[in-house]
Amino acid sequence: MSDLYEDLRDEPEDLPVPETALCIGAHPDDAEIGAGATLTRWADAGTTIALLVVTDGSKGSWDPNADPTTVAERRRLEQNEAAAVLGARNTIVLNYIDGELECTMALRAELCYWVRRLQPDVLLTHDPWQRYQLHPDHRATGFSALDAVVAARDPLFFPEQMPEVEPHRPEAVLLWSPDEPNHWEDVSGWLEHKITALLCHSSQGKSTLGGADEDQERAAAFADRIRLSAARAGAPIGLAAAEAFRRITP
Ligand SMILES: [Zn+2]
Repeated sequence: MSDLYEDLRDEPEDLPVPETALCIGAHPDDAEIGAGATLTRWADAGTTIALLVVTDGSKGSWDPNADPTTVAERRRLEQNEAAAVLGARNTIVLNYIDGELECTMALRAELCYWVRRLQPDVLLTHDPWQRYQLHPDHRATGFSALDAVVAARDPLFFPEQMPEVEPHRPEAVLLWSPDEPNHWEDVSGWLEHKITALLCHSSQGKSTLGGADEDQERAAAFADRIRLSAARAGAPIGLAAAEAFRRITP
């Protein structure tokens, strides 16, 4: 372990396998990129996993003639396929307009409701403090999910949600693509599931997947990039393959 990471690693690697996990991503495929291998490992060990996708993914095409409604429908099907690969039991899509997400009280209330309803031990989402994070939806989702964690514990936040749902606070929050990682999940042996889940998002072939929908060679190059990224993430703490997170214990 390098000196740099010795200070940062103030939270141990590998959480105990949670009973329930809620993963909140801005778009279809974000959860798979950020935490797909960890989620698959947990699902295999019995964790009940819910994927919550905040936007409809309707701007996820580089084709100027694409119909946003058709794009959104296709991405919803792809998300269901990917969820099945990961072993997630539930997929919830909130259908906010892709690319236009803002940190509103309505979004905070909605995410708070799902935290209370699903009562996750671990909540995973975007790191909204990741420096130079360009995508507004990623920032808004990360901030709103964390604001929802604060609200979900205390009954005077959004009291109209009770008694249908009960207050709840997750034991841990993991932020993926972290600005400063302090926690690593060992995903050796689980990367192929992550790659398979990502390839379900074939509408993203030309963008996220780097042409993987066009030929086998590019698909193989994409898979290699995922493996390389996991190897790089694990290297500072001596793991062959890892997903790195900022862990917050609320
Ligand atoms: Zn995204």
